[in-house]
Amino acid sequence: MTKTLFTKIIDREIPADIVYEDNEIISFKDINPQAPIHLLIVPKKVIPTLNDLDAEDFELIGKMFKVAQKLAKDNNLSVSGFRTVFNCNEDGGQTVYHIHLHLLGGRQFQWPPG
Ligand code: AMP
Repeated sequence: MTKTLFTKIIDREIPADIVYEDNEIISFKDINPQAPIHLLIVPKKVIPTLNDLDAEDFELIGKMFKVAQKLAKDNNLSVSGFRTVFNCNEDGGQTVYHIHLHLLGGRQFQWPPG
């Protein structure tokens, strides 16, 4: 099976600015940041979209949010605020089919999103 872009980052085949890693999750800076802080939180398990989550994966999703909470704190975003986003499929704006949680902060965001 062809490796996803993010698996290539996990396997150190493509460089990335890695800010967190454990045995299940990696986080690195988005290459095209949409805010002063823009991190991607990615499970090492390849799950293409949120539609593909199995019951056994929901604990992993919780762990991704635990990492988001920690990284928001580490980047002094907890009080000022931040946004977490999962994009799904074309209308959601997903471009990399290996689920990832965006953590964005350091500026005021609009609602509704564009
Ligand atoms: P999405 O559009 O939700 O699938 O998000 C994919 C994200 O991956 C985008 O924000 C891209 O800027 C980001 N991205 C693409 N290639 C890389 C890379 N080599 N390193 C870090 N981030 C990347």
